[in-house]
Amino acid sequence: MLNLNFVAAHQQIPLIHVVHEDDQLLANSPEAEWYSILQNLPWKEHRKIGADYYNALYHFNKTRTKNQKNRDLSKEPKETATQRLLFDRATMDESAPVLLEEEPITDILPMVTPEMIAPGITPDRLGGKKPKCFFALFKSFIGASLMGLDPIPDKVDLLLTSNPSYARVCGFIPKGDNDQYSFKHVPDLRKLEQFDQIMTDYGLWDRLKIQQVIENIKQGIIKEEKELVGDTTHYHAFSSFETLTYIDENGKEQRKSQSKTTKNCRCQDKDNCRHPWQLADDGAGTIVKAHNKYIWGHKASILGLPMQGIPLDAIAVADAATHDGETLYPHVVRLFAQYPQVRAWIEKVLYDSACDSQPLKDKFRDQLGLELKASLNPRRKKTVTENLPKGMKKLTAYGNLVCNADFEMDYNGVRNETERFIYRAPVDTNRISVCDSCEQKPVCCPTAEQGRAVQVPFDMLAHIDSQDPPMAKRFKATMKRRPAVERMIKRLKCDLGDDRLKKRSNASFQAYLDKTMTAFHILLRS
Ligand SMILES: [Zn+2]
Repeated sequence: MLNLNFVAAHQQIPLIHVVHEDDQLLANSPEAEWYSILQNLPWKEHRKIGADYYNALYHFNKTRTKNQKNRDLSKEPKETATQRLLFDRATMDESAPVLLEEEPITDILPMVTPEMIAPGITPDRLGGKKPKCFFALFKSFIGASLMGLDPIPDKVDLLLTSNPSYARVCGFIPKGDNDQYSFKHVPDLRKLEQFDQIMTDYGLWDRLKIQQVIENIKQGIIKEEKELVGDTTHYHAFSSFETLTYIDENGKEQRKSQSKTTKNCRCQDKDNCRHPWQLADDGAGTIVKAHNKYIWGHKASILGLPMQGIPLDAIAVADAATHDGETLYPHVVRLFAQYPQVRAWIEKVLYDSACDSQPLKDKFRDQLGLELKASLNPRRKKTVTENLPKGMKKLTAYGNLVCNADFEMDYNGVRNETERFIYRAPVDTNRISVCDSCEQKPVCCPTAEQGRAVQVPFDMLAHIDSQDPPMAKRFKATMKRRPAVERMIKRLKCDLGDDRLKKRSNASFQAYLDKTMTAFHILLRS
């Protein structure tokens, strides 16, 4: 069906509208949700970014060089460069930002204005051939994600060339063998790569993502919640590493993995050419998982709303080797700067044990007025089995108390005057204390009428905050909402993409996150 909403006012309505049977089938198929989303994607809200894309394309064609930092590195030997790159990393240089801070190229002349463009209408003034349509290119990438494929040039190319319905719904005409160039034809792989690179370098994927989130907040699709939940996740890097040795500030030899030192020029004599040495895959690092498992990858920090299961932001960590506890604070600050309306909602932030640190909790309270709730990190505390109250077998580092008859005591609260945690024996299904029928009762609590009551001094669990202990029902109820972030991560990583990256560099990793986030928030609206 020809949808008149998507034809600009000044655009000629096609006189003949060809109906493709496959397209009709897809439009009516509940399985092919991607088709109707792409078909009905509103374009006017993306017109500003579209205009900026054409301006960026013009700028890109004119310059084709990216700004380098103002250092003369032309004579730097490779070994020196490797060490320089190592000490520039966020895990080595304390002054370096923890999260990726790409500086998009912005010093471009606005030649194309939003009013000049629409789907199928591309600007003329760029010189040379008419450029491919921004809206069609944008749909092609987001569509890949909606179908659960990587939103990367190779996959988009495959979709556009193998699936004519896909090409048409995005706004392209499938190309015949002998057809002359038309800006309406499906672009070749190189053009798709160029589009992706421009969208990345000029910060346009990022802006598209922010626009989707703001739109969903404005439309009330994202509703107010008082809690924010965070976590990090890793993606496998598309690179290899080498293990370097260096001397730390104490004069001790240390080892660290780093991606290879390389030049991305095509010069024959790389050792002597004027281009600076770079990391082959900046941002990649060793991520330590449980059970001493090591992963060479990129790390992202995710923040979202637990009740609705909606990720609000996903950002590349500047160096994947960064500890999880360091990413939360700067990310929350950044999220609030981007979405001030969200800041007004939030009272509490939930995180796993990586953020169980009193100085960090103080920082959240003092700087942001927020309560940081983290799962308990027992650190090196062990289960206690000696000097326990009578009849008790063990007290775990998490404050769980178990008696000699293997019943876990119920936590009842604190007595602040005597500085003690209070526990009581559990009741059975008939609400009768398990002590009543227990063999141990004569030696444990012969006179207790409602079962054994136990008091444990605060000192025995010195690592636990007595005013907010993890054994308390309220604490447990709050932390039940934390794993919601893991479901958000699964949606982004598995349902809308792939956790094995096919491109290098943190900038393209961030672009990947932005594209999957955009797809997520478009889906939310449909
Ligand atoms: Zn070179």
